[in-house]
Amino acid sequence: VVIGEHRHTQVKIDLQAIKHNINEEMTRKDPLTELWAVVKANGYGHGIIQVAQAAKQAGATGFCVAILDEALALRAAGITEPILVLGITEPEYAPLIAEKNISVAVGSQAWLDQAAPILAANQVRTPLHVHLALDTGMGRIGFQTPAELAVAVKTLSVAGSPFDFEGIFTHFATADQADDTYFTHQLTNWKALIAVVPELPKYVHVSNSATSLWHQACNGNMIRFGVALYGLNPSGTELSAPYHLQPALSLTAELSFVKKLARGKSISYGATYTATEDEWIGTVPIGYADGYERRLQGFHVLVDGQFCEIVGRVCMDQMMVRLPHEVAVGSKVTLVGSDGDNSISLQSVADYCGTIHYEIACGLAPRLPRVYT
Ligand code: PLP
Repeated sequence: VVIGEHRHTQVKIDLQAIKHNINEEMTRKDPLTELWAVVKANGYGHGIIQVAQAAKQAGATGFCVAILDEALALRAAGITEPILVLGITEPEYAPLIAEKNISVAVGSQAWLDQAAPILAANQVRTPLHVHLALDTGMGRIGFQTPAELAVAVKTLSVAGSPFDFEGIFTHFATADQADDTYFTHQLTNWKALIAVVPELPKYVHVSNSATSLWHQACNGNMIRFGVALYGLNPSGTELSAPYHLQPALSLTAELSFVKKLARGKSISYGATYTATEDEWIGTVPIGYADGYERRLQGFHVLVDGQFCEIVGRVCMDQMMVRLPHEVAVGSKVTLVGSDGDNSISLQSVADYCGTIHYEIACGLAPRLPRVYT
């Protein structure tokens, strides 16, 4: 990956904001409930290692990732706390997972049946930490019926099993919505499933950010705290959070070129924008290769704190904005964040693109340097 260190376009991450959000959740949650920071997808684009370290300082006692490589990256960075891989990992990596003391989500008996002989053949002595995933209505991974769950629990519990039955969990599909009909349906399924587990494991967890913010009563004893730790409201704008979420990410650049464009002249590919009068136009060194989407044509940025429209198509690496008057090359451009009295949220960028802020944050390309304050 080539990072644009010499281009003045940056993602800035305020680690104090991350600590603030975690602190708020730490004070609100039940004291016996652990908070594990979800740092998958490069910490939702914010930087996996830096976020993990800040989260740990703020009180996170474990981490969740999506894929094994992310867990290995945390271990390589010296993180010694429990790390759970939320997605399905190939059973062939069972020895590596056990050796690195990583925990994995398991959603089928077949997985256990495949992993057990691989662990035995590799003479792995440390048990493999397993969190059984229950599919209560998310429809993604996990056991669906009490019967199949009971068999898996038995497999984990037999004497000499190479597994450590460390956790059991589910994931809610609609915890971020005001209508809780489907949430209640999932909760009923969850209760019916865990009723067949004679002895619950150390970690019983059902809460993503939204469940923890709006359905606190069923938190289990560990929260998988994701998007809210980055200061983003999981529901978008539908529900308000019980405490102030402070966004950690901003995206800034500097104008690389400024010119006067004569009336009648056009801008960018397809010549979709034509000046209706003589105009000042600035060029911003960012494009869709940076994850600043092509769909953002017509949206706005702040130049020296003033809203300016994005005119013409967003190119791969550059785009143009209409300026209120002549401004200097090097003027500050804020694409996400605030400057003076004005601000642009990730939520508003996502709204304009017809998506959710999660997708915009994760989509910010590795080419953008991450700068931490
Ligand atoms: N738990 C699981 C299983 C997930 O897949 C995710 C992320 O999508 C989370 C927790 C964290 O969710 P959120 O970022 O909405 O808090």
